[in-house]
Amino acid sequence: MYDAIVIGAGPAGLTAGIYLARGGAKTLIIEKESIGGQIASSPLVENYPGFKCISGSELVDMLYEQVISLGVDIEIGEVKSIENGEIKKVFVDDTVYETKTVIIATGVKHRKLNLENEDEFIGSGIHFCATCDGPFYKNKVVGVIGGANSAVINAIYLASLCDKVYLIYRGKDLKCEKKLKEKVSKLKNVEILLNSNIIQYLGVDKLDKIVVKDLIGKREIQVDGIFLSIGMDPETSIKLNLNKTENNYYDSVDTLTNLPGILVAGDCRNKNIRQVTTAVSDGTVAAINALNYLQN
Ligand SMILES: Cc1cc2nc3c(=O)[nH]c(=O)nc-3n(C[C@H](O)[C@H](O)[C@H](O)COP(=O)(O)OP(=O)(O)OC[C@H]3O[C@@H](n4cnc5c(N)ncnc54)[C@H](O)[C@@H]3O)c2cc1C
Repeated sequence: MYDAIVIGAGPAGLTAGIYLARGGAKTLIIEKESIGGQIASSPLVENYPGFKCISGSELVDMLYEQVISLGVDIEIGEVKSIENGEIKKVFVDDTVYETKTVIIATGVKHRKLNLENEDEFIGSGIHFCATCDGPFYKNKVVGVIGGANSAVINAIYLASLCDKVYLIYRGKDLKCEKKLKEKVSKLKNVEILLNSNIIQYLGVDKLDKIVVKDLIGKREIQVDGIFLSIGMDPETSIKLNLNKTENNYYDSVDTLTNLPGILVAGDCRNKNIRQVTTAVSDGTVAAINALNYLQN
């Protein structure tokens, strides 16, 4: 029997593991894919305090080492459901783990276009986070894919760094707020391509061109990188009676949920800013809340 089980070994889950173990809780982290979560696929992180520049995988390696050194158990497997009660049962394939408290830190999945070579170019020309990776494209040419607020905000931000930004959207008009539309339309280095879909990625090792199809036909556009801003889906499919927002994120106040002893941390919960710093902050708060729960 564990004191705490953390689901997801991204920055939020690993940080929760550190605080739980240091608080004396016997802890297990369960991860369905690979240790580190989304940040592991980032070639460079330049906004994590204490490191001017570090690769996502190096950061994850250090976090992982710290967690293991504290005696936290880690298992690979996908949690499908949780049975709530004073003793909580966590179901992974045909194994059932028992625990007194659970922290769910399952993150999000960014939507992709699902084109050939896409996974190969992620981190090498295809990005999701303009705040994180935009500065690597200073004075370069980038594309932003999407037409809602987040895409337009990214295009405006990237226009302040890059020589040229293509804002590529499949709809016939941007579907962002009016003010954003006015602002982006005035920027001289932003070209808005409507009724346009990327149909192919081109490049060797790194993306260097996209093929865009619009109402007239197809054309190749040279880009140094693109930012997919077509939404994210929270990883909140574990069977359990937790309250969720209308967008399917876990609903919580300071990581506390509607179920006592079940906490949520990181990108999978309702919040505005999804970064490593906010994920580790959530991991900290959830772990301390879990330790308090264990004491009562
Ligand atoms: C390419 C890229 C670059 C980025 N660059 C930066 C950057 O430079 N700076 C920055 O601050 N942020 C960056 N981000 C965002 C940052 O990575 C995330 O905000 C952060 O990783 C969120 O941490 P998390 O632990 O909440 O979730 P995640 O990192 O998403 O981790 C969640 C983990 O839970 C696992 N999981 C999901 N469901 C289950 C289940 N049912 N059972 C078991 N395990 C499960 C997943 O496999 C995953 O490993 C970047 C994101 C991407 C994709």
